[in-house]
Amino acid sequence: MGTLKKVLLASLCVAFVAVKWSAPSFDSESLRGARVLVTGASTGIGEQMAYHYARFGAQIVITARREKVLQQVAEKCQSLGAQKALYIAADMASVSDPDQVVDFAVEKLGGLDYMVLNHIGPSPFRMWDGDVEHTRWLMQVNFFSYVHMAWKALASLEQSKGSLVIVSSLLGKMASPFVAPYTSTKFALNGFFGALHHELAMKKSNVSISICTLGLIDTEAAMDKVKGVTNIPAYPATDAALNIIKTGATRQTDLYYPWFTQLVTLSKDWLPSLTNYIIQNSYNYSP
Ligand code: NDP
Repeated sequence: MGTLKKVLLASLCVAFVAVKWSAPSFDSESLRGARVLVTGASTGIGEQMAYHYARFGAQIVITARREKVLQQVAEKCQSLGAQKALYIAADMASVSDPDQVVDFAVEKLGGLDYMVLNHIGPSPFRMWDGDVEHTRWLMQVNFFSYVHMAWKALASLEQSKGSLVIVSSLLGKMASPFVAPYTSTKFALNGFFGALHHELAMKKSNVSISICTLGLIDTEAAMDKVKGVTNIPAYPATDAALNIIKTGATRQTDLYYPWFTQLVTLSKDWLPSLTNYIIQNSYNYSP
């Protein structure tokens, strides 16, 4: 690596530490009674977010497709201290369900302070085999439903000086093999909500947008996919969930979790050949 690159890399590290130190502090009391909608909350990171919000005394609506599982999560939220824990089963592949979920939450909670869009449809972990229909379907579930829900909830969030939180991925910043449809949906989210963030700021809107970039997290779904394929370390879902909540509550624009995902994101532009080499050699694959 040349001297200039080393100096620039060191400067970035210093800037990174400075930004982390100057980040606004989180007051869990700010979430007591907060009206929150979390999608994809029957399992994984969404389920963990529901439990954290419950412990902070929020009023929550959770959604996913499996009603029975949602009921169990809602009951646990109630026992953990949620002021309200309601659920609505919905399929984000449908054109009408995303709007209905927002209507339900706004009506039952009397408005919205936080909307956390987190759900993803199942997608195979394999080389792309030309399945255009699956890619289109996944775009509806992982991207268009987010756009629908954001539009539907904006007026309510505007009234409450609320926050829209988008759960994205390192794979929305850096393309990766075996997940072409998934990675596309996450790039789309980053582009759309990055643009919307600018527009809301220019309009002096009350609504904040946080985009959360996550690395590998130890949810059952993710672990099943990468088992035996990669040794990349996975981080705990409960900690990822808490960091997402803090990012929304403090109205920060970005979260990178774990922290080094921010450096990895930068490395793809600064050291593209090295980054490509690492990506292609992080998986056990032989043609
Ligand atoms: P999971 O697969 O564990 O959970 C997905 C959630 O979405 C479930 O609640 C599922 O419930 C729901 N869901 C699936 N299909 C639909 C549908 N058609 N309509 C409505 N809801 C649906 O995901 P994770 O917890 O692992 O990931 C959560 C978020 O974090 C995602 O946005 C993901 O991209 C992001 N992320 C995760 C990483 C990881 O390593 N785990 C890494 C980077 C980002 P149900 O089946 O009941 O519908």
